[in-house]
Amino acid sequence: MTTSVPFACRAALIAALALFLGGCAHSGPRNPLASWVPSKNFDERRPVVIVLHYTEQDSVEQSLDTLRTRNSGGRVSAHYLVGRDGKVYQLVKDSQRAWHAGAGRWGGITDVNNASIGIEIDNDGKTAYPDAQIESLIVLLRDLSERLRIPPAQVIGHSDLAPSRKIDPGPLFPWKRLHDAGFGIWPAEGAGDPPAGFDPWLALQAVGYSVEDRGSTVRAFHHRFRGMEGTELDAEDLRILHALTRVAPAQDAGAPSP
Ligand SMILES: [Zn+2]
Repeated sequence: MTTSVPFACRAALIAALALFLGGCAHSGPRNPLASWVPSKNFDERRPVVIVLHYTEQDSVEQSLDTLRTRNSGGRVSAHYLVGRDGKVYQLVKDSQRAWHAGAGRWGGITDVNNASIGIEIDNDGKTAYPDAQIESLIVLLRDLSERLRIPPAQVIGHSDLAPSRKIDPGPLFPWKRLHDAGFGIWPAEGAGDPPAGFDPWLALQAVGYSVEDRGSTVRAFHHRFRGMEGTELDAEDLRILHALTRVAPAQDAGAPSP
């Protein structure tokens, strides 16, 4: 049995609904101090850096639980989780702010969560990263850098932005392989020895590192560029830093640019 509603009553209902929906469409995130005069000219905020982590856990299932619920260690999340078999999970929208970086800085970026995409990689910190996992990560990085226009060089590790607190993704992470695929930075070959007076601490800052805790920063640098432990700079570190920060020589004026 259907209940018949008089036409006038239905029209009034429809009008009330339209008024309600119209009210919703115009109710913006208003600051009571200001008059809301919305503009159509805007888009979502864009991340400018990608941060890689390892989960330091034993399985994707365990990490999905940690990254999706409140637990004893507090609330953490990431935009993506890459399994050892290469399967990729998305937990937070690209346009939203995941809680993965915590306190730290990279270059001029001080609120890294606000400016980044966070990718957790299922790894316990003690075993090598399987090929299938790194291949999937590279496909994901290509998608993110193209779709979100994040510069491919702007892929860093958690330990790069928080060297005194974090060591992930650790000395086993294959940064050279990532660079061969077009992501992150790597020292150019044939840069030679640094000039006299070369300041490695200025160079580390030019790369993006904080040097407030120098020993921890050198450890992060060693993990990233040499796959080894150590908190003291040596001659090879200076050569790498020189190669990373050297200004490319001017092109021959007679040669056409590519
Ligand atoms: Zn991390």
